[in-house]
Amino acid sequence: MTITTLAQLSADLDSGKISSVELTQHYIDRVDNSNHNAFISINKEQALAQAKAADDKRASGEASSLLGVPVAQKDIFCIKGTQTTCGSKILENFTAPYTATVVENMHQHGVVSLGKTNMDEFAMGSSNETSYFGNVINPWSSSTSDTTALVPGGSSGGSAAAVAAQLAPAATGTDTGGSIRQPAAFCNLTGIKPSYGRCSRYGMIAFASSLDQAGPMTHTAEDAALLLNTMAGFDAKDSTSLDVPAEDFSAQLGDSLEGLKIGLPKEYFGDGLDADIAELVENAIKEYEKLGATVKEISLPNSELALPSYYVIAPAEASSNLSRFDGVRYGMRTEQYSDLVDMYTKTRTEGFGDEVKRRIMIGAYALSSGYYDAYYAQAQKLRRLISNDFTAAFKECDVILGPTTPSPAFAAGSRTDDPVSMYLNDIYTIPVNLAGLPAASIPAGFTKAGLPAGLHLITPYLQEAKLLNIAHQYQQATDWHTQAPQSVSNGGQA
Ligand code: GLN
Repeated sequence: MTITTLAQLSADLDSGKISSVELTQHYIDRVDNSNHNAFISINKEQALAQAKAADDKRASGEASSLLGVPVAQKDIFCIKGTQTTCGSKILENFTAPYTATVVENMHQHGVVSLGKTNMDEFAMGSSNETSYFGNVINPWSSSTSDTTALVPGGSSGGSAAAVAAQLAPAATGTDTGGSIRQPAAFCNLTGIKPSYGRCSRYGMIAFASSLDQAGPMTHTAEDAALLLNTMAGFDAKDSTSLDVPAEDFSAQLGDSLEGLKIGLPKEYFGDGLDADIAELVENAIKEYEKLGATVKEISLPNSELALPSYYVIAPAEASSNLSRFDGVRYGMRTEQYSDLVDMYTKTRTEGFGDEVKRRIMIGAYALSSGYYDAYYAQAQKLRRLISNDFTAAFKECDVILGPTTPSPAFAAGSRTDDPVSMYLNDIYTIPVNLAGLPAASIPAGFTKAGLPAGLHLITPYLQEAKLLNIAHQYQQATDWHTQAPQSVSNGGQA
C-alpha cells in the first residue's frame, strides 16, 4: 500500500508510534519541498500549536478518532486569524475574523488545519486555472509518457493535488457543480458531496448558495466517513442547515451488498464519454455484481437540461453573493478613484478574474427585470424536473452508478479558451447538486495512458452512510485507490 490513510494515522497516534507535532511537521516539510502549487498559504505556527494541544490532550487520556490528524483546508473556508483568499486577488489581503463552522467542528474533534489549498477563483472552474495564485499541477502528470502538465480538476484542485501528492492525508473541498468529485476523479481520490444541508455553509465563502456543499477528499471511503463525522452537523448560523440528529457515517461500513439494486442511467453512457472510462465503469459494474448487486438500466430523461439550468442558477446566485466584494467591506480597494462608483468599478475590475466577471455578467443578466422569468424562473423549473427524475429513478434502484467525468485529466491550457468544453466536465455531477443529493467519486482504475478514472455513485437524500459503504465494499475488493502517482510512491509515506 503506497498511501497513508487517516485510519492508519489515527492508530499510529493512539499507539504512540508518532506524535501529532511530528506528523504535522512531516507534512509541512513535504509541502515546503513540493512543486504542485497546491497550497496558497500555510500557517505553520498555528498548525503546530494545534498539534501540540492535540498531543497534550492525548497524553491526558482524551481521544477522539482524528485527534491530532492534520488535514488541508480549501481556501474557501474562513479560519480566524488566517489569510482566506478564495483564490481571488480581491481577497489576497483578507484575514478572516472568524472560523467557518465546518472547520470549527473539525477543530473540536482535534483535527489540525494544515494550511489553505489552492482553488479556482470563488470556486468557479474545473481545472484550477482561474486561481489568482496560479495553476496547480496534477501529481499524476509525470505518470504518463506525455510530459505535459495536467490539470488536477477544480475547483478543489489544490485539495486534490495535496492529497494525491501526500502533502496532506486528507483535505476539505466544496462542491457546487462537481468541485469535489471531478478533482477526486482526476487525482485518484475518494470525494464525497454530502446531501445539501449536511455541512454548514457558515464561514464558507458563498458561490451559489442553493448548491454549495462542503465535503471530504480522502484516499478511502472509510476515511471520508471519519472526516465527514467531524465536519457535518446542524448549525443555527446557516438557515439551510439540516436539523437532523447527528449520524455516524461509518455505521454501515461492512454491511453486505447482497441484493443491492444498481441503476445505470442510459443518458450517462452516451456520446462524449471517453472509451477507456466507459470500459473501466463496465469493469466496476462487474465487480459490484460479484459483491451481490443486481444491475438495471434506468433513465434520467431530463439530464441534458442540467447544464443549461445550472449555468443560469449558479451565476445568478453568484452575481448576488459577490456583490459584497466592493472595496468597502472586504479585501482590496483600488488605489486611485474619483468617486464611490468609480471606486466600486475599478476595485471589481482589478480584483476579479475573467471567469468570475463572466459569471457575474451572465447572472446579473438572468436576474434583470424583463429577463427574470425567461431565464431564472425557467431554470428553476428545469431544476424541479431534474430532481423529479431522481425521485422516480430511486423507486427502481438503491444507488445510481456511472462515470464521474466524461474524460480524464486534460493538459493545462487546453480548454481555457473554450468555456463550454470546460463546463462539460461537470455534465454528470451537476444534476446531483441541482437535486441536493449525496454522491461520491471513487477511484475506478486507469486509462491506457495511465490516468485515473472516477466512478460516480449517487444515493437518495441523507443516505451518506449507505453511499460510503457502497464505496467501501468496492475498495475492499479492488486496489485502485491505493495507487499513488510515480513521483510520490517513492517518498510519500508518513
Ligand atoms: N465547474 C463548475 C463551475 O465552474 C462547478 C464548480 C464547483 O462545484 N464549485 O461552476
